[in-house]
Amino acid sequence: MIQFKLGAITSKLKNSLFSHISIKQKTLFCAPEKMSESIYDKYETVIGLEVHTQMLTKSKAYCADEYEYGSHPNTQVSPISLGHPGTLPKHNIEVVKYAVKMGLACNCHIAEWQHYARKNYFYADLPKGYQITQDKTPICTDGFLEIKLKDKPAKKIGITRIHMEEDSGKSMHDQDVYDTLIDLNRAGVPLIEIVSEPDIKTGEEAYQYLTEIKKLVKYLDICDGNMEEGSLRCDANVSVMLKGSKVFGTKVEVKNMNSFKNVERSIDFEVKRQIEAIEAGETIVQETRTFDAQKGITITLRSKEGAADYRYFPEPDLPPLRVTQEFVDEIKLQMPALPKALFEKYTKELGLNDYDANVLTESKEVAAYFEEILQFTKNTKAAANWLMTAVKGYLNEQAVNMEDFILKPKQIAEIIALIDDGKVSSSAAQKVFLSMVENTHESAENIAKQLNLIQESNSDELQKWIDEAIAANPAKVAEYKAGKQSLVGMFMGDVMKLSKGKADPKIASKLVKESLDKQ
Ligand code: ADP
Ligand code: MG
Repeated sequence: MIQFKLGAITSKLKNSLFSHISIKQKTLFCAPEKMSESIYDKYETVIGLEVHTQMLTKSKAYCADEYEYGSHPNTQVSPISLGHPGTLPKHNIEVVKYAVKMGLACNCHIAEWQHYARKNYFYADLPKGYQITQDKTPICTDGFLEIKLKDKPAKKIGITRIHMEEDSGKSMHDQDVYDTLIDLNRAGVPLIEIVSEPDIKTGEEAYQYLTEIKKLVKYLDICDGNMEEGSLRCDANVSVMLKGSKVFGTKVEVKNMNSFKNVERSIDFEVKRQIEAIEAGETIVQETRTFDAQKGITITLRSKEGAADYRYFPEPDLPPLRVTQEFVDEIKLQMPALPKALFEKYTKELGLNDYDANVLTESKEVAAYFEEILQFTKNTKAAANWLMTAVKGYLNEQAVNMEDFILKPKQIAEIIALIDDGKVSSSAAQKVFLSMVENTHESAENIAKQLNLIQESNSDELQKWIDEAIAANPAKVAEYKAGKQSLVGMFMGDVMKLSKGKADPKIASKLVKESLDKQ
């Protein structure tokens, strides 16, 4: 294992990074509640997100090293990913395929020629001293995504570009008291960066946009979407301007958020901070800030490098790559049904409401499970309800993922059939379900029989309980005869009790009425 000791460099670096927090900004954090609410209404917010997603390809972007999150540090490296002199990168076509998939899912134009560029940095965890990326010729451009907002119509967020690049290694500042440790496993892992237009207006919209991206990459199976493990990272660019202004304000970039909720919180904080600073007569400076999730505030990390600092130049070691129309068409054929198309199908063809259709398309696994139940039952609404309530409730309670759920969709369809055939009541079916998850090899009907839950729909059996209920309540019978029709409900209740819930309510209520009328 290679371990780099960088204690001296990093402590200096840290000092210089944090020395930027000015006294003015510190005092500003204490003041917000004193400011009048109306100042916030004068401003309009402009937000653009840059999202990096790590591709799930078997090997790295420009060499054959494998990569798996959590592997022992510095074991998934080679002379190429370590940037040794004289080594050469090569294309990984899978990365191109994945980027095209995402581009198609985001309604983008796919560029024919892929040119690669070097973006130069000095970072301790970037052994080559540069990152291979795309500069002027991103693979996907001019797309959009639709986000859903509570009680509002869907909103389109423009996608400026999606480009392919490679990740750096990882510096760990908190593993050792004196030194920063470096793990280079991640160096060279493929990423796509998805850059949005500045169309996002609130923290909530940013949250929904990220939710949509995560959903798509997971449907496409190109990224696991796990923000905690860093396979999906988001930088938020935030600025404010007076309402109606045509000129954007100076943007601040916020980094280091480890959850969608924190992206939303950091944006809400940043908008407030910027408005208050402007109102206090200050100028917003272009900079990179970091989010302190515990305190709920953003703090200066560094003043922003201009694009020129990176000294982009064409990557001399990778020839341009042509993405033909046939290549794109082939990928189109392999695309799975995406959440938007499934949502349309569920609402328009299956007649489900928007809420149900949203829940069912939330993840690829849930949608796939639902589709499979539908292969075994025609009762769409029941399939949706069982999946959204009993199944999801169980999964939540047990902290199990949909893909690990122990029952097959066919078994859920069996339970639905028991209810539809009048064999068990809805509440009895819940008991069948709970027993079935413990007893996965037994059929739903056998479980219902073993638990003595099969409903009695035999009229002779039902009549005995009805006669018993009527005989026990002569006064109520008289009231019924005198015109109080609603007493049928009370007699039904008695019959259900006497039958221990096994009376088929449809047939029983018809018989109760007939029997009362005969009295
Ligand atoms: P940079 O070169 O600084 O990275 P880009 O032009 O690439 O800037 O934009 C990065 C992101 O910032 C994009 O998502 C873009 O929509 C967004 N953006 C650009 N200008 C603004 C602004 N004034 N306020 C908020 N976001 C902005
Ligand atoms: Mg940028």
